[in-house]
Amino acid sequence: MPVNCWACDYLFIEGDSSEGLPECPKCGSSGKVMHPSGQEARLQAGLCITSSPPSGGRWECKSETKHSYYKKDDEHHFIDRTIDRANNHYYERIINKETGEVVREVDERLTEHQGRGSAKHKKKI
Ligand SMILES: [Zn+2]
Repeated sequence: MPVNCWACDYLFIEGDSSEGLPECPKCGSSGKVMHPSGQEARLQAGLCITSSPPSGGRWECKSETKHSYYKKDDEHHFIDRTIDRANNHYYERIINKETGEVVREVDERLTEHQGRGSAKHKKKI
């Protein structure tokens, strides 16, 4: 079974396990996927995990992992994004699957992220 990089589809090995494999030499991601041939399409489906407090109410943490295709640029991208309200953390990594190049990487406080650009009120520290 082939072991691929979950982000850029780099082929690591043909094997039974992804254990002990290094980070992807192409894009630097540590995630790996194994899939029986013919089921590659599942890879493209993406994943979105949202956690909400047990008491209900709005979500606290949202993790999104997906492949996206921009028709305009004819480019395939891999998007890994986590918005963690509970820990005030925003993380985003976008990889060009063709080249393995990291197009965008953001790792910052959620409040700083939201404070950019269109912020209406800015507090002076
Ligand atoms: Zn990769």
